[in-house]
Amino acid sequence: MAPTQEVRFDSSQVTVIFVLGGPGAGKGTQCENLVKDYDFVHLSAGDLLRAEQAREGSEYGQLIADYIKEGKIVPQEVTIALLRNAMKAALASPPSNTPSAASKWSDGRGRFLIDGFPRKMDQALEFDSKVCESRFVLFLRCTEEVMLERLLERGKTSGRTDDNAESIKKRFRTFEETSMPVVEYYGKEGKVVEVDSVESKEAVYRQIKEAMDGTFKKLGQEP
Ligand code: ADP
Ligand code: AMP
Repeated sequence: MAPTQEVRFDSSQVTVIFVLGGPGAGKGTQCENLVKDYDFVHLSAGDLLRAEQAREGSEYGQLIADYIKEGKIVPQEVTIALLRNAMKAALASPPSNTPSAASKWSDGRGRFLIDGFPRKMDQALEFDSKVCESRFVLFLRCTEEVMLERLLERGKTSGRTDDNAESIKKRFRTFEETSMPVVEYYGKEGKVVEVDSVESKEAVYRQIKEAMDGTFKKLGQEP
């Protein structure tokens, strides 16, 4: 991992939206949709950790592999440094594939969907105070029964070490005990936009779009 400077981003220029939900709730799937329609850059904490784990010479490779298999929260120093570096890189070479992306990313501005983060209170507090204050949290609520079915199906082809019944059970426990308190904390701050993600991908996305458009309007911001 490249050494990280403790850079803090200006939240009036850089929009950060956290996307939370249990394992298999559909965070990655729906972020892909949002990227296309709203010119966000999607950063998945899990994907960044898996990339760091696979990077030759990473001093954190084994640690990350062990935490992921056990469904545990990787220490925030590692996760936040990866996110900060990824944000810096995106701001240094912003997307310009569409006129709206070029305009929303001009003059140091940027828009990030940060998926699967923060999963623990220490991360939430550290990121908001030292990296960039988040705008709101999109929370995908789903039942364990549905998430289990989706993850076992995904596990047939994902090659992930944690898409198996034993790891999934541990991930559900971590989500309930450690990550739900983060959702509750932001809920008390009035920052949670909740969507029911049990339905089909298309139906969930329709709800998300409506909720996102309404929230941006309330914030007086362009969607
Ligand atoms: P997460 O990022 O929350 O872990 P994913 O987006 O990877 O979840 O979704 C988990 C699996 O479930 C994927 O294989 C995905 O294609 C599938 N999936 C996601 N949303 C839905 C949905 N609404 N209905 C059915 N399957 C879904
Ligand atoms: P995901 O790809 O979101 O399903 O995450 C897979 C695994 O990566 C989790 O079970 C954790 O072990 C690790 N992970 C993902 N996001 C975080 C995070 N924000 N903080 C620490 N560990 C994380």
